[in-house]
Amino acid sequence: MAGRIPERFIDDLLARVDVVDVVGERVQLRKAGREWSACCPFHDERTPSFTVSPSKQFYHCFGCGAHGSAIGFLMNYDRMEFTDAVEELARRVGLEVPYEGRRREPGDDLTELYELLAGAAGHFRRQLAASEAAQAYFRQRGLEPATLERFGLGYAPDAWEALKSALGTTPARVALLEKAGLLIRGERGRIYDRFRDRVMFPILDRRGRTIAFGGRILQKSEAAKYLNSPETPLFHKGRELFGLWHVREANPKIARLLVVEGYMDVIRLHQAGLTQAVATLGTATTHDHAEILFRQAPDVYFCFDGDRAGRQAAWRALESVLPRLRDGRQALFLFLPEGEDPDSLVAAEGTAGFERRLAAAMPLSQFFFAELGRDVNLASLDGKARLAERARPLLAQVPDGAFRDLMHGELERLSGVSLHAPATRIATARRATASAPRSLVRAAITLLVHRPQLALAVEAPLVAAGLRQPGVELLQELLGLCQAHPAWNTAMLLQHYAGRDEAGALQKLATSADIFDDHAAAEAEFRDALAGLARQARQQRTDDLLQRQAAGELDEAGKDELRQLLAARA
Ligand SMILES: [Zn+2]
Repeated sequence: MAGRIPERFIDDLLARVDVVDVVGERVQLRKAGREWSACCPFHDERTPSFTVSPSKQFYHCFGCGAHGSAIGFLMNYDRMEFTDAVEELARRVGLEVPYEGRRREPGDDLTELYELLAGAAGHFRRQLAASEAAQAYFRQRGLEPATLERFGLGYAPDAWEALKSALGTTPARVALLEKAGLLIRGERGRIYDRFRDRVMFPILDRRGRTIAFGGRILQKSEAAKYLNSPETPLFHKGRELFGLWHVREANPKIARLLVVEGYMDVIRLHQAGLTQAVATLGTATTHDHAEILFRQAPDVYFCFDGDRAGRQAAWRALESVLPRLRDGRQALFLFLPEGEDPDSLVAAEGTAGFERRLAAAMPLSQFFFAELGRDVNLASLDGKARLAERARPLLAQVPDGAFRDLMHGELERLSGVSLHAPATRIATARRATASAPRSLVRAAITLLVHRPQLALAVEAPLVAAGLRQPGVELLQELLGLCQAHPAWNTAMLLQHYAGRDEAGALQKLATSADIFDDHAAAEAEFRDALAGLARQARQQRTDDLLQRQAAGELDEAGKDELRQLLAARA
């Protein structure tokens, strides 16, 4: 698989790309003072609150809070993965993305693999047209010809070398087919088709390219009912969702996604007009899945069987989404009646009936406490303690925010156990930093985030480095980073913090109004803030030494230092 993209390259890329161009190609921008503005592409609005800043190289919406660099814009607007967004921008400016740790072997060209998989999909479609039995299967399952075409469904005939002889015309192509997971090498070195006598479901990536297949056995036999492609350079099942490309094709804006269990559920829901259905590929929902799901839509509905296995799968889905539940994201659970699947329900109750069930789906919080409290007597102290014990490590994974507070409140209400775990205290302290009015640390960080070049005007390390105050370490780090990268702009600085806890707070500071018109005034303010912090650090040191002296613990060196500090203050 592709290796990591070095940070240097991201910096270089963001320095060459202009976010105004990238956004401007997709959204009509109007010049507004030093910035550009538009009606926000991420939420519905009549008056523009979306701005793009050429100097900071990022966009921000004052209505919905959307913000980011050119990379972030492509990820959110075109719904690209990080790597794809970087590739896309690199192409614009004629750079080749260097991947760390990727070896290029001869014939290791992914383009060839994509072409081969597209060829295989075509082969399976032609075989379907030639097989009455396979066509009959899809007919019995209620699929219309247009649906077969839309999902590119096909058939792998009951033969050992049908695909191999059709596409494996040279030894190099046979090797590629094996790499694509379509051929298997047997014990005696014989190479044959992996998929035999199966109806075939192409699995597409987010750009609509075939990357793998799922196959369902046509005749009853000993073989597994469902068979997927193995992991290949193109296919990582923990990161792919069946149907996602079709969802994006059918919906310009995706308000919700429905996660169902199988290929046929997805396809039949789409056919019925519920074009937001996707499925994982024979695996439980992973953290990667959760992130991909929420990047597409704020509301994700998990539809599972109401039986024991279904509830277990739902619980694993819950665990995978907990760390991804930032404010504004919602997970809901719909348990289907015994013996029903999404398709049979739509058939019996119509899409309106299915919509009613979705509207009554269980919010994650409800499912969470219902499952944890399942075999616990909440009337007893012991039971309450056990509930708190089970919930605490799970809730610790939920990102800081209103949803987390709500879950903690609910746990306290149910268990009577107060949840002031250290993690919560840290989070509260961090929030206090972000909102403390006019603290010097905050002022200095704000200025630095707006104008990273200010770091060049002062010495590092920070004189106030030892100061015990929230944010000092972050300020120290920012200062070091900005000095080490004199060409960084705001977007590049923020990109460096992507995925870290501080990212949100820094974004907020970066989008607060820049009150300084010229650099000199900002620099004076920045120097003042640092000088103020240095004073506070000296005061703190003085207090420490005075305390130790009062306790009779101060040695000669300490007394010397104290005298000097007091003298300097006088
Ligand atoms: Zn917005």
